[in-house]
Amino acid sequence: MRCLIVSDIHGNLEAFEAVLNHAGPVDSIWCLGDLVGYGPDPNACVELLRSRPHLCIAGNHDWSALGRLDLAEFNPDAREASLWTRKQLTPDNLAFLEALPKELPEPAQEHFWLAHGSPCHPIWEYILDDRTATDAFGCFQATFCFHGHTHVPILIRLANQQGSERLAWSQPPEEPHTLGPGRMLINPGSVGQPRDGNRQASYMLLDPEALTVEHRRVDYEYWLTQDKMLEHKLPPRLAMRLAYGL
Ligand code: ZN
Repeated sequence: MRCLIVSDIHGNLEAFEAVLNHAGPVDSIWCLGDLVGYGPDPNACVELLRSRPHLCIAGNHDWSALGRLDLAEFNPDAREASLWTRKQLTPDNLAFLEALPKELPEPAQEHFWLAHGSPCHPIWEYILDDRTATDAFGCFQATFCFHGHTHVPILIRLANQQGSERLAWSQPPEEPHTLGPGRMLINPGSVGQPRDGNRQASYMLLDPEALTVEHRRVDYEYWLTQDKMLEHKLPPRLAMRLAYGL
């Protein structure tokens, strides 16, 4: 089985299509939330995901597009983009987003858990430091948890070293490699708005039976996305950042 792991597509159709083409045939897409928000094609991205076999969970931008979150928690650009997104979404696509669960424990195989932010607080929490990561390992029962939200690809491993558990943070290597040893938090990075200084769309391929994962990057026509954002009068700063991956 071959699974495509994507997160934070953010209504960026050019990036999502580039990832699907680059990944080749897959059996299922596992989407870790923030399908919409920021980008100019929320409906097309929802519909493209819905047209393929998939699992999907909700992110904070999906919830804000549904009016489920207080927009005061967003910065002004994100708030403006969220209000715009809410107006664009068709009733059918809104209903799809409404039905997304907050997390999917052990969705297809016994080893995996999915959450947008963190397994402790799936919608909002960012895993950015040792303390949050340590707590996160206490909040899911599976061996591996895929998550997104930070828009930065990272592997965090909890390994037993000399009788005590230690965290190890690393960049995911680009060649296929076996998961473990030890439990892991795995962030595939963002498809539609990378923030690790690399503007290429970021994703992973997973073989859930062999427990191998591969991190990949792909160029896309980001200037087309930018043009559409400016045309729709979305905040220019959100369009500009796509060129820098920041
Ligand atoms: Zn996001």
